[in-house]
Amino acid sequence: MANNLEVFVVGAGVVGLTTAIRALEAGYKVTIFAEIFPGDPKSIKYTSCWAGANHVSFEGYGAVMHELDRDTRAIFLDLIEEDPLIPVMTRALLTYAQTLDGDEQKQFDHLSRMYPDFRILEASELPEGVVHGAFYTTICVDVPRYLSYLMSRFLAAGGQAFRTTIASLSSLLSVTDRPALEPFPLGSTNSMPSSPVALINCTGLGALTLGDVLDTNMYPTRGETVLIRAPWVDHSMTYYYKNSDVSYIIPRQSGDVIVGGTFQVDDWHPTSRPETVKSIKERGISVYPELLPPGKRENQNINDLDVVEECVGLRTTRKGGLRLEATLLDFEGKTIPVVHNYGHGGGGYQSSWASANRAIELLHASLGTK
Ligand SMILES: Cc1cc2nc3c(=O)[nH]c(=O)nc-3n(C[C@H](O)[C@H](O)[C@H](O)COP(=O)(O)OP(=O)(O)OC[C@H]3O[C@@H](n4cnc5c(N)ncnc54)[C@H](O)[C@@H]3O)c2cc1C
Repeated sequence: MANNLEVFVVGAGVVGLTTAIRALEAGYKVTIFAEIFPGDPKSIKYTSCWAGANHVSFEGYGAVMHELDRDTRAIFLDLIEEDPLIPVMTRALLTYAQTLDGDEQKQFDHLSRMYPDFRILEASELPEGVVHGAFYTTICVDVPRYLSYLMSRFLAAGGQAFRTTIASLSSLLSVTDRPALEPFPLGSTNSMPSSPVALINCTGLGALTLGDVLDTNMYPTRGETVLIRAPWVDHSMTYYYKNSDVSYIIPRQSGDVIVGGTFQVDDWHPTSRPETVKSIKERGISVYPELLPPGKRENQNINDLDVVEECVGLRTTRKGGLRLEATLLDFEGKTIPVVHNYGHGGGGYQSSWASANRAIELLHASLGTK
């Protein structure tokens, strides 16, 4: 139901787009402002384009994220049922561990509570070198297609967007000093937005440097992956090694497959490192030989992989967990509510819908609307 109150969403990653859609659905007039949008050349400043992305809830992320993951999983399952063309699919996931120390045991216990069809594998079902394994159904998101889907859904529902780079949230409130705005998509006939009643901040790692946010709890967890072409890959896998390395395999609807990966805390290096790429490929084909084309699996040669792209992304991690809260911003004698929704680390897709729902509840509460 339209309330015609104008809201600005900053950020067009998976979190910003999903939140903007929910704000529109709640009746607000919504404008997105962002430096980078779906379909742009891939950038290290846009984490969403580098994600796997599947649904593997992390025990270490804490109770709030667990609830968001659980609720988002249910929403994704509904979306898949409602729209068979959505670039999101369910797939079997096998998870294996070479050791079962305290952390791995906790992760397996958590997974058993999160996924209804979770099942511990029998010893006879485990590959050599694996001491513990489980099966459950995950959700695999075809990231580039899904970001375009979200953008189209937002625009089709009446939202509008501008490309801009801002130094602070308050710069968007200034009538005289507003940063340069370019309609997105280029050529669209957007009306210049007037004064919003609230802002929603979905800037991911941008929150670290945004003038009136400066959230020094934000840091990157660098993830290198290799995107390969292997349309025959039919299930997802997570494989925990003795030395804490992890291999993960995520098929996409397009037939491309993400092979990961690394979790490098506070590492901003924006391009792939050859030795890491080699190791990801070697580990990948040793635990999942079907990454190689049929007929080329015997020799286990990484050069037989059909590589599409070497990828590096920076997970939007935050000390203390994600920031989902409302604050007030003082600007030129006015006070305006700001809802923050960022810092989802390695789980921004799998928590996106429930996180957006919470952000809209905070918005209603700040404005006294419903
Ligand atoms: C290798 C890898 C694998 C992953 N796998 C998974 C997975 O399997 N499942 C899962 O759920 N998640 C996964 N993730 C995590 C997921 O990608 C992130 O949690 C999510 O993309 C964060 O989205 P976001 O919208 O908060 O941030 P971003 O995608 O970074 O978007 C930030 C937006 O804010 C804009 N912005 C920022 N600062 C400014 C500014 N000053 N002015 C204007 N605009 C600004 C940017 O332009 C952009 O539009 C993975 C991530 C990586 C790197």
